[in-house]
Amino acid sequence: MSAPTYTIPKTQKAAIVQSAGEALKIVEDHPVTQPEQLAPGECLVKLECTGVCHTDLHAAKGDWPIPAKTPLIGGHEGVGIVVAIGAHTQDSPVQLGDRVGIKWLAYSCLDCEYCRKGLEQVCPKGKYSGFTVDGTFSQYVVSWVSHVTPIPENLESSEAASILCAGITVYRAIKYSNAKIGDWICLPGAGGGLGHLAVQYAAAMGLRVLAIDTGAEKRDLVLKLGAEKWIDFRETKDLVADIKAATGGQGPNAAVVTAANSAAYEQAIDYLRPGGYLMMVGLPGHGKLAADIFFTVIKSISILGSYVGNRQDAREALEIASRGKVKCYFSLKPLSCLEETYKGMEEGKVVGRVVLDMKQ
Ligand code: NAD
Ligand code: ZN
Repeated sequence: MSAPTYTIPKTQKAAIVQSAGEALKIVEDHPVTQPEQLAPGECLVKLECTGVCHTDLHAAKGDWPIPAKTPLIGGHEGVGIVVAIGAHTQDSPVQLGDRVGIKWLAYSCLDCEYCRKGLEQVCPKGKYSGFTVDGTFSQYVVSWVSHVTPIPENLESSEAASILCAGITVYRAIKYSNAKIGDWICLPGAGGGLGHLAVQYAAAMGLRVLAIDTGAEKRDLVLKLGAEKWIDFRETKDLVADIKAATGGQGPNAAVVTAANSAAYEQAIDYLRPGGYLMMVGLPGHGKLAADIFFTVIKSISILGSYVGNRQDAREALEIASRGKVKCYFSLKPLSCLEETYKGMEEGKVVGRVVLDMKQ
């Protein structure tokens, strides 16, 4: 069979942030990288859809200690078709016409000690979609054949999109949380993009889920998705006591914090049961964790930072979703809704995820 051919337009629609904190602009005439401009190892992907992650909002606002590139096209949960591969690319694992995912880690060298040990997320040569290189809030994106992820055939593109960041991240955090089948896991941020997928991965792994977030809509969603207990962080008078009571008096074996502010981390050392694991995932700009040293030691608490996942985590997280064990709860919107999505996210009003339809 001959390789498919694609006509690549010269310009495209894209959402661009000129400098940190500025409102984003949707333009119709952003240049598309042409096939002959691709370096060996690079590919051009025509996007079908992309999820909107709270990280994109942090990047647009510039509220992290490491600044994003500017001007910036954000986005790192994209699904699309490979429409060009750089000339002289050797042994490409993907071919023209393949449906692939664009995730946060767009490139790593695969040869440094971190990459060799499977911690490619921290490769010193790492490139990050929608942060250090332009991302998926455009109709075409340049990425690397070594790091785009094949999407399982039976998984819809809109279903797959948010697995590529939110899914991979919480899947890996739960995997390393040391929680075993039948253990309690506490999920502050459970009604958000990462959190609602965490509820489902945890339930699929046989864990008992205590979901924490706020509002009736998020409560109903997480209970439907497999959470056994719910606490509204805005309504509780004593979070630690309520968490302990909900988990049989002892507290949960693990907590995966996906809230985007430091308040959600504050009492984890108090409510975790001895031997418990605190998995730090949510990324407030300048938060500090005030862990009481005495009780962290006496309770033998482990505190671990967990940063997205490697290519293997990506395959595993997608595979679980493709078997129907985890389903993204999302609303599909056009790119023009990105700004209002950021606003909703800031106010904690986005339930599950917003996925942008890039074909519109
Ligand atoms: P989101 O806005 O969809 O969800 C966050 C949820 O936290 C919201 O539902 C909100 O109501 C809830 N929340 C806020 N304060 C809370 C509190 N005190 N207790 C419990 N819940 C609380 O955001 P998201 O897209 O899921 O991303 C969450 C965070 O994770 C962001 O900071 C993002 O940058 C970060 N992130 C980290 C990684 C990583 O690799 N570690 C990967 C992706 C995203
Ligand atoms: Zn993300």
